Amino acid sequence: MLNRERSIQLYDEAKQYFPGGVSSPVRAFKSVKGSPLFIQKGDGAYIWDEDNNQFLDFCGSWGPLILGHNNAQIREAIVQTVANGTSFGAPTRYENALGKLLLANNRYIEMLRFVSSGTEAVMSALRLARGVTGKRKVIKFEGCYHGHVDSLLVKAGSGLVTFGETTSAGVPDTFAKETLVLPLDNEAALVEALNEHAHDVACVIIEPIPANNGLLLQRKAFLQRLRELCTQYNVLLIFDEVISGFRVGFEGAAGLNGIQPDIITYGKIIGGGMPVGAYGASRSIMKNVSPEGAVYQAGTLSGNPVAMAAGFAALSQLAQPAVYQALEAKTREFVAVIQTYCDQKGYEVNIPQVGSIFWIAFSREEIRRADQINPASMERFKVLHSELLDRGVYLGPSGYEVGFVSTAHTREQLAQAAQTICECMDIVFAN
Ligand code: PMP
Repeated sequence: MLNRERSIQLYDEAKQYFPGGVSSPVRAFKSVKGSPLFIQKGDGAYIWDEDNNQFLDFCGSWGPLILGHNNAQIREAIVQTVANGTSFGAPTRYENALGKLLLANNRYIEMLRFVSSGTEAVMSALRLARGVTGKRKVIKFEGCYHGHVDSLLVKAGSGLVTFGETTSAGVPDTFAKETLVLPLDNEAALVEALNEHAHDVACVIIEPIPANNGLLLQRKAFLQRLRELCTQYNVLLIFDEVISGFRVGFEGAAGLNGIQPDIITYGKIIGGGMPVGAYGASRSIMKNVSPEGAVYQAGTLSGNPVAMAAGFAALSQLAQPAVYQALEAKTREFVAVIQTYCDQKGYEVNIPQVGSIFWIAFSREEIRRADQINPASMERFKVLHSELLDRGVYLGPSGYEVGFVSTAHTREQLAQAAQTICECMDIVFAN
């Protein structure tokens, strides 16, 4: 068993200051055993907690750290930039540098606006879609998460095409009623919703690689059909690429599928571990954003120079040839070892993977929709999570969360971790 004394002390203290002792809910370990580890430092593929326990990290700060922890180039860029001050509330050349790098390597957007989080990017993208179309409603999919935007904190009611029911106190019904919630992977529902409501619908928003409620890999044909229908019904298509952007390729899921959305949102990797988000689109759509256009959107710390420098250092490494191929190959091998072992043992495990994202599902069927996930299977994840922590492997503290491999994970580390995961599967399925 790990010595967690210091983390427990810190957590007890934190609970006096912060609701649930945390600054963001999933960190509270509510879905797994024990209490949160307080992290002291990270380097490469490893993190260390305050009790000096070392873990191979598959959470990667929930996605941003595709280059691992404490990446030398990112750190140097931050240190150099910060020497000249931290924020000016005026334009700096760092925004130009990151904007230029991004646009020169991405065929799917022509202009962008920097913000400070994924939520802010999504919220702004929805406003832009509504401003451009003059329409009100939004279509989202059950099982996709888009940050804590009021009108998107909704779930489906009963029925195929339903108006949202709020999933958070404090979201007025009237906001939820602006959102239609559809199942993923269901073309008929999409056609029905657009047929009936398109005159009122500004946009459809989707995680093209839904990775917030398990990894619900969509069929390319479904995404293509979604694109066609949006065009046909004059509804804007938003790809929320806060996770998939710069993760499955420099051009994200748009590039992977060769599909042109109308607006794309980014976060996580784009800031190299600093708080950055962005939304981008064609020049003609982006010209609607203030001060050029009538859609208001602003931010005191938007385009922060330190964050821009970190993002530039991250994306310039990712723009090098073959980075993504190597990362995907490593991840695929890692997943294959575990999948093969589980198959041989007859364990009910399925590990979908795309690029350097993977998800351990305790199920035999291929899962493409949220309602296919059996909540009872999360008990197995709890055991796995706790056994892995004891053996120095850190997964995000919920069975609904995906894992991320970084360029810093070596093949040896991954082989070792796969071995450890297989051992822990024996314990999971012995129960
Ligand atoms: N969209 C997606 C697809 C996300 O995964 C997230 C965060 N997990 C968000 C939006 C919100 O981003 P943030 O937490 O930076 O506000």
